[in-house]
Amino acid sequence: MTETTRQDKSGIPRRGVLAGGGAAAIGAGFALGRVSPASATPPGPVKQSRADVVVVGAGVSGLTAARRLAQAGRSVLVLEADDRVGGRTLNLSVGKGVVTEGGGQWVGPGQDRLFALLDELGLKTFKTYVDGKSLLHRKGVRQEFTGSIPALPAKALEDFGRLAATLEEMAATVPVDAPWNAKNALEWDATTFGHWLDANAGTEEAKWLFTLAFTVIQGEDPHNTSLLMALFHIVGADGIEHMISTTGGAQESRVVGGTQRISLEMAEQLGDRVVVGSPVSEIRQRDGDVLVRSAKADVRCKQVIVAMSPADAERIRFTPPLPARRTSLQRKWHNGTESKLFAVYEKPFWRAEGLNGSAMTDLPFARFVVDNSPPDGSVGILLTFMGTAGSGHGHTWSDKVLDDPRERRAAFLADMVTLFGPQAAHPLRFLEQDWAHEPWIDGCVSTTPPGLLTQYTDALRKPVGRIHWAGTESATAYQGYIEGAIQAGERAAKEVGGALTALAGTPHTRP
Ligand SMILES: Cc1cc2nc3c(=O)[nH]c(=O)nc-3n(C[C@H](O)[C@H](O)[C@H](O)COP(=O)(O)OP(=O)(O)OC[C@H]3O[C@@H](n4cnc5c(N)ncnc54)[C@H](O)[C@@H]3O)c2cc1C
Repeated sequence: MTETTRQDKSGIPRRGVLAGGGAAAIGAGFALGRVSPASATPPGPVKQSRADVVVVGAGVSGLTAARRLAQAGRSVLVLEADDRVGGRTLNLSVGKGVVTEGGGQWVGPGQDRLFALLDELGLKTFKTYVDGKSLLHRKGVRQEFTGSIPALPAKALEDFGRLAATLEEMAATVPVDAPWNAKNALEWDATTFGHWLDANAGTEEAKWLFTLAFTVIQGEDPHNTSLLMALFHIVGADGIEHMISTTGGAQESRVVGGTQRISLEMAEQLGDRVVVGSPVSEIRQRDGDVLVRSAKADVRCKQVIVAMSPADAERIRFTPPLPARRTSLQRKWHNGTESKLFAVYEKPFWRAEGLNGSAMTDLPFARFVVDNSPPDGSVGILLTFMGTAGSGHGHTWSDKVLDDPRERRAAFLADMVTLFGPQAAHPLRFLEQDWAHEPWIDGCVSTTPPGLLTQYTDALRKPVGRIHWAGTESATAYQGYIEGAIQAGERAAKEVGGALTALAGTPHTRP
């Protein structure tokens, strides 16, 4: 085994400390976009390898954990199922050298770990485009408005404020590290956020606005989400106003070059410690070590970090089986079904008309629209979100729209024309990223149905022997966000660092 001390400003020793030549020998390589199946590394013989720690999953969380461990001088190997790194952050090419974000994209104040990591990686942010007026389209009426609160009747706005204040008060009683311990946890986890809105909203418009905002943020209709989970999200993400705002809120900025760059940069610095195209099929805990079986390598290690949502972890076989509480959590967990759809235009033509590209609507298809153009506005991009669960109030899309991309394109463009005029009918390109049909990712962001948080409690984070859990779902702040993925990765790295220190003096992993 060799270990060199050469480091650059990443603080990561350049060569790995893996027996057997490291991941390069296993067949590493990561790509910006997707690698076509034909160009992906062909399956070869399974290599035998060793490391102090194996991280399963090369999303932001797993790569952050690996980065911190490598910086601390631990030998670490990341095994990723897909042929790329980044998980739920994915850059899509829109031509002319421009990318847009197929997955997580916004960053905002309060997400301190994320900004610190961006600084470390030398990545910059730019402000979401907000100059000009937004659109509200309801009941056939198109209105322009300034600021973040749509031009609803005063009574509805008052009702919105009252509901927000009540929810904030309730959320303040929810402990971020143990929401199941809230005084009213059982009551709130027995119902959905949507039913609470039905019972408490005084106006149809305020209910509509809450439903729309939370469907986009949580990737799921509030009628499918536990009220306790919604309150946990509210308290963990610095409150409702922060969650739904652009200026000064969670949607304030984007990353130059797209958020997948966070993972691409970390993976590049980790070098041959990252192996893509190598799904982990089994994690076998033995007396003195753990055997992690994957498509390209069987790795013996001392500790494992599983960095993905509980729903994704359910595809791995654990030997011996996981405790009942963790197994049930994994089986019952599910991620939202949201997709992103983009129309790419020659220019952001709406800006010349005094519009900022944002719209909140009750149109048949595009409920929430934003300007997703690159910082220099060299092309114009309009983005909308769509989930198979619909967007609240029992609304669902037809099978035709759900199943046929041409129908989706037509439905999307028809709504863009209603909002932005005839120029919107002729995009250069139409793109979509469907998170419900990813091979290794269960879906978009996670919300939980009633009962899950209070039944399975600490199983989200509690280590099982030498197995530790990362992934944004295990975060205590900004759960579901990139910030949460980083927090969870850093927490898991610390846990593992502690466990390795405790193990010091015990013999190294058996060859
Ligand atoms: C449409 C959408 C919009 C979003 N918007 C925002 C936003 O604006 N701001 C924000 O902060 N967040 C947003 N998010 C959420 C954010 O992207 C995620 O919270 C974050 O990227 C999760 O990172 P993670 O590492 O925890 O999990 P993931 O990114 O899911 O990483 C898990 C990794 O594990 C891999 N894996 C799974 N099974 C195996 C296996 N058996 N073996 C090996 N590897 C495996 C997966 O391929 C994946 O790469 C959005 C997400 C989506 C999908």
